[in-house]
Amino acid sequence: MSRKKTERDAGPGTGGGAGQPDLFGGAGDAPAGISPSGADKAAPSGPAPLAFSFSKLSMYEECPLKFKFKYVDKLPEKPKPYFAFGNSVHAALEFFHDPAHKEAPPLEKLLAAFKEEWDSRDWREKGYGDPFRSDADYQAGLKMLTGYYRKHHAAFAPPFLVEYSTDVEVDGLMVRIIADKIEHAGGGELTLIDYKTGKDVRRSPDQLHMYQKICELDPALREKLAERYAVPVSAVRVKELRFYHVPTLKEYSFPRADDFAIGLFWERVLRAAEGVRERRFPPRPGDFQCRFCDFRSSCPVHAAEPARAPDGLAELAGEYEAARAKADALRIKLIAALKAVPSGSVQAGPFSLALKNGPRWTFRDREAVISLLREHGCYDRACAPLLSRVAELVDDESLPEEFRRSLRLLAEPGGAADVEVRRRGE
Ligand code: SF4
Repeated sequence: MSRKKTERDAGPGTGGGAGQPDLFGGAGDAPAGISPSGADKAAPSGPAPLAFSFSKLSMYEECPLKFKFKYVDKLPEKPKPYFAFGNSVHAALEFFHDPAHKEAPPLEKLLAAFKEEWDSRDWREKGYGDPFRSDADYQAGLKMLTGYYRKHHAAFAPPFLVEYSTDVEVDGLMVRIIADKIEHAGGGELTLIDYKTGKDVRRSPDQLHMYQKICELDPALREKLAERYAVPVSAVRVKELRFYHVPTLKEYSFPRADDFAIGLFWERVLRAAEGVRERRFPPRPGDFQCRFCDFRSSCPVHAAEPARAPDGLAELAGEYEAARAKADALRIKLIAALKAVPSGSVQAGPFSLALKNGPRWTFRDREAVISLLREHGCYDRACAPLLSRVAELVDDESLPEEFRRSLRLLAEPGGAADVEVRRRGE
């Protein structure tokens, strides 16, 4: 079924897929001696072509330093749930539109293809924080694909190709594309379709411009056309470009890009490639790209910042603070209640309660005590025991809440007296 892909050409912030040639033209993880499909292979001499893709262009334009961290230094990234979700939906649609299918496969098989890819990794490996969110996305994927099936199964027609991956050498670059679906309109004219599974439906067709250029240069595609439709094809021509937004089942169609538009786009590609070749990797900080950047801890722009707190930590700390304050207040109430019991211990319901420390001395003439302590240089040493009384102020509702809250923040469990609470029989 589906080739396993760690990432797809899905737009800014994404990277190239597994098996992509090394940045400067190596064969990536392809077995030795096997060259990438359909490409005009690297010349025997001269500089190796630079491996490039739309993802690489997007990332270099977004932040060259981020590009370096990912593609040159190969720093690890966190798994992203949206990649897992996108990969599973793509795998299901790859199965559904397999050109070998003469008619639409049943819905159950489409959903099974989604499940198979989804189950290939657990929720942590997919980058989810908990299994519930992972399951919610799984259910959303089933619903999405069911909608897709209902809309399209009746008019099903096998396409020319699905998940067509090719590397083509052009202008010193080895450019990789992975086209989700290619339909043949007749006479060597093609429609290129790219599925999108994210929330954002507004897209410029830049990615499809790259696909158009590469498809029209790709000799393997010409051969496949001739093979499949038994007609000689002198040239492949892209007629239409389409994004298909799976969550809303809407298509966004663009006419083929003219030479001027392709030329402008290609200038951007060559400019970015030149930056990579010359190893120009300045940081380009920005709210959006830095917020979602996995490399912040390695980035000099953010070196002086304190470490970013993990998600949910502030809420957890707030809950802990409130629970601790409540526990402290209850402890003080228990102590006060137990102090009224002559023995300092009592049975209450299923509990046995006891003051852990015996009664302390009390001093009625505060001024006289302070004066005596000062006279003998013991005042500072005696301050600490006196703090034990401060805890009672925390529970004194006649005092301002803000003062008591500040006091709670300074307080720690412990003190002169404590209480032990046990269930009887323990
Ligand atoms: S943190 Fe921002 S500036 Fe630094 S590498 Fe990432 S995107 Fe670039």
